[in-house]
Amino acid sequence: MVAAIKKKRPMKLTNDNYYSHDTDFQYLSKSVFAMFENCEASAMAQLKDEWKPQPKQNGQPDPLIFGNFIHSYFQGEEAHKDFLKDKDVQKEVYKYGNPEKGFKKAYSKSGEATSIIDKLGLNGRFNYYYKPQQSESKEIIVTGQIDGYWWKGKIDSLNLDKNYFCDLKTTKDIHAVNWIKDGDYNVKTNFVEAYGYYMQMAIYQELIKQTFGKECLPLMFVVSKQSVPEVANLVFDRRDPDVNYLMNDAMDKVKELQPHIWRVMMGEEKPENCGKCEYCRYSINDPEFILPTEIEV
Ligand SMILES: [Zn+2]
Repeated sequence: MVAAIKKKRPMKLTNDNYYSHDTDFQYLSKSVFAMFENCEASAMAQLKDEWKPQPKQNGQPDPLIFGNFIHSYFQGEEAHKDFLKDKDVQKEVYKYGNPEKGFKKAYSKSGEATSIIDKLGLNGRFNYYYKPQQSESKEIIVTGQIDGYWWKGKIDSLNLDKNYFCDLKTTKDIHAVNWIKDGDYNVKTNFVEAYGYYMQMAIYQELIKQTFGKECLPLMFVVSKQSVPEVANLVFDRRDPDVNYLMNDAMDKVKELQPHIWRVMMGEEKPENCGKCEYCRYSINDPEFILPTEIEV
């Protein structure tokens, strides 16, 4: 199985097919991997277009479109304009989905998205490392093999002259407590570990190395989605033993889990339900009896 994937080079990635489910079935990616880690059944239903997560309620911005609004702004004027032409985006950002009616609250002059953009504009390190580059160095597609499996990644901003790359993230609250599973225990950690960002940076570092032959330093610029936003500038410096350990550990997890994920994607193994997510709540109607002590928290 692995040997077969190794030999056959998958279809070439472009900006048009990068996010398509066709290429998701040829390359693994951080986002698809994370979907499978959360719930295999939900991941498969989404990849096969059989189910979509419910839209957010009570006027809360859609996190994906909200994030891309900010990303495309810093990609450049042209990219931002193109982004705003998309029908789904227009439905989310404009009143009644109509550009002539003006932006909805979150995207207006006094809204969250604007205050995040303004806050980033004041960040000297962000301006120096992320912003002033050519548009050619933004949203760079990279590919490579990890243990024989093909992976894809899109780098927000890449500087091959100075050997670093940047990722831009928005998060609820930089200091929020997040719980992750460690064997049978729930342990507290920050958003970087909880959202798999050590994994993402380790994968991107590897794919850049395979695509361009250069070892690049991962930088992450983070802004919180709070009425008064906070910024954090993060460097994933492997000279620090803990950071190096967490990045290597995340890569080991990729190598350990990807054969099973791949077999599920190829229909060779059955996807498992997590029993807790939105898709499981929607699709499970007649569950087995369990003991009250078995309810997971
Ligand atoms: Zn589930």
